[in-house]
Amino acid sequence: MTLRQNLGAPPTLSFPAEPIWQIALFTGVDRILDYAPPEGWDGPAPLNRRVRIPLGKRSVVGWVAGAAAHSTLAPHQLRPCQMVLDTDPLLDPASLALVHWTAHYYHHPLGRVLATALPTLLREGSPAEMPQMPHWGLSAAGRALDRNALRGHRLQALLALFDAHPLGMSAAQLETALPGSRDVLRRACDRGWVHAMPAPVAPLIDPVFGQSPHPLNPDQQAAVDALRAAHGYAPTVLEGVTGSGKTEVYLQAMETVLQAGRQVLILTPEIGLIPQLRQRLQARFSASMALLHSGMTERQRLNGWLAARSGSARIVLGTRSAIFTPLPELGLIVVDEEHDAAYKQDDGLRYSARDLALWRARQHALPIVLGSATPSLESFHRTERGDYRLLRLPLRAGSAQEPRIQLIDMRPHGAPDGLSPALLQAIERELAQGGQAMLFQNRRGYAPMLRCRACGWIAGCPHCDARMTLHREAGKRDLLICHHCGFRRTSPAHCPDCAHPALDFMGMGTVRVEEALRAHFPHARVARIDRDSTRRQGSLERMLDAAIRGEVNLLIGTQMLAKGHHLPHLALVAILDVDQGLYSPDFRASERTGQLVVQVAGRAGRELRAGTTLIQTHRPDHPWLRQLLTEGYPAFARTLLAERQQAHWPPFTRLALLRAQAPELQRAMDFLARLPTLLAPPSELQVLGPVPAPMARRAGAHRAQLLLIAPSPVPLHAYLDRLMPQLGTLPESRQVRWSLDVDPQDLF
Ligand SMILES: [Zn+2]
Ligand SMILES: [Zn+2]
Repeated sequence: MTLRQNLGAPPTLSFPAEPIWQIALFTGVDRILDYAPPEGWDGPAPLNRRVRIPLGKRSVVGWVAGAAAHSTLAPHQLRPCQMVLDTDPLLDPASLALVHWTAHYYHHPLGRVLATALPTLLREGSPAEMPQMPHWGLSAAGRALDRNALRGHRLQALLALFDAHPLGMSAAQLETALPGSRDVLRRACDRGWVHAMPAPVAPLIDPVFGQSPHPLNPDQQAAVDALRAAHGYAPTVLEGVTGSGKTEVYLQAMETVLQAGRQVLILTPEIGLIPQLRQRLQARFSASMALLHSGMTERQRLNGWLAARSGSARIVLGTRSAIFTPLPELGLIVVDEEHDAAYKQDDGLRYSARDLALWRARQHALPIVLGSATPSLESFHRTERGDYRLLRLPLRAGSAQEPRIQLIDMRPHGAPDGLSPALLQAIERELAQGGQAMLFQNRRGYAPMLRCRACGWIAGCPHCDARMTLHREAGKRDLLICHHCGFRRTSPAHCPDCAHPALDFMGMGTVRVEEALRAHFPHARVARIDRDSTRRQGSLERMLDAAIRGEVNLLIGTQMLAKGHHLPHLALVAILDVDQGLYSPDFRASERTGQLVVQVAGRAGRELRAGTTLIQTHRPDHPWLRQLLTEGYPAFARTLLAERQQAHWPPFTRLALLRAQAPELQRAMDFLARLPTLLAPPSELQVLGPVPAPMARRAGAHRAQLLLIAPSPVPLHAYLDRLMPQLGTLPESRQVRWSLDVDPQDLF
């Protein structure tokens, strides 16, 4: 049986005792392999369970994807499996269907999709069981205790938690609800108020309680009413400017779902957004919650996954890969910041969690909310066509006021440090009032270019078609680092070409802006937030907490700062260089830049004061930048959609991008050129390329690409369905590294 045949509908029937087990591997081998059952096995094939198998001289974990009566291997070549690891199928039919559909749609081997969908420990063969968790609850003495006589608010908080959980709580639940509670728990146990008790057998279904909901404005109320009335597959785009109270709408819609005994899945594009959302959820609901993101230990992730699968976790909050979590009682999916490119994985299995969430909602007839201040053009287009419902929150919640946006024309001044006089004055005024300002510069490091003043030499990466970025840290030698391949070396003191000693730093990285800000405002407390300054775990949260408490006056950072954090003291926001996004050749660049401007502007001015947003540009008359500022995001989105329609770009067409790389460009080009000869594309498919990639050399490899453009998904996938299995059998396919990207987010 070929791989392709295995990617169809999930096998759900249990077969009679077929003697051939078809095993998918999580890594290494993409083909489905035939094995014999373990010695002495006489039951049906354990479909959708894990097995341990011999592979060469190793023993690896595999997945029983199917069973058959015959194999192309001779009987003596068939090796028996060593052991069956699961007694029950690991995934319920709905989750299995999602995995199979993902493999089919992205034309990716089943085993590798499972590798993304399953927690690492399961891939490695750990039992799919919660370790026996101690469970605690109030004793009779604890219940009878006069709480008013107690000292210590942590003890009070602990006992109040147990009041709310009469069936007791596990260590994990306690740690989530009251972090660091181990000591106070021990004290309560020592005094006999709390005791160990058996864990309840049935999943806990907690009542909804906590902080009373915030009063809603009429738009929020209309949105909540519409979401509560939604039944079946009902995709809703919740378009709300930052500060308009989207989260409150999610919470009130969730309340109904949780009260009905169903589970809720909430996706966020990145881990940095999880702490604030988690706090809001915990303050509102006592329902147990599982978190799933890359900042957790493997054990924590497995426990969260198991709690979701068993139904004991009622709320699952996670990043991209949480879309694969089995949720037997799923009743609502929320995709927050749905426009964010981070929902698309950019290597290996290049899936879009947002798109999979929509598939999952449709397949299981669930309501889904796509929230954003700046909906993606895909989602916006669907609301215009009437496929999705659009709910708008045009006003800021509470008393918060609309931010004012102004362009600063950079042409008259040189602004050698990237900070115009108008911006410096605005910061000065803000600091004088004790306020906070935030500056965006989407380049980390000190300077994006190092150039010789005499001969024009530019420091380039020896392995990529890219410039090296200068990185400077106090007390260390300057480094040149390539942001594409990671290559680094110390910065030269003289030009390597002409030996001239004067090398100029060109452009501004966040570190250089930080240095300039400290020079202009020596008394301000400055914090820089980018990938370099937040490398250590927890450092991003610490810096954001300091900003939230108003302990920082000036924040400088990359796009990381643009996303959803609520900063009550922030009144001035500036984008230092919006022009980068105006000139990019990528067809999504204008959409992304417009989204960034709106998101960033939304950060300024919350409940306390109206905010100001300043945008530095050399093109103050740029037509869509002007339209965005004068008419708002929906008008801007309609203009871009009209352009996309004319140019035959998504969402009016569907794309698939084949990338190939090899030690020589010609080899990658030749490989891609074989495709249309291997299988002639149907006439409605447009084939562009092969051409060298926009960055033709990266990390020492030469890269080429071929773009397929189709008017709709059907002919595209029909072609890929037939092409992909043949592609893998080409001898050239072993001499290049190649990959397929369905619905690519960028063409680089
Ligand atoms: Zn030179
Ligand atoms: Zn490089």
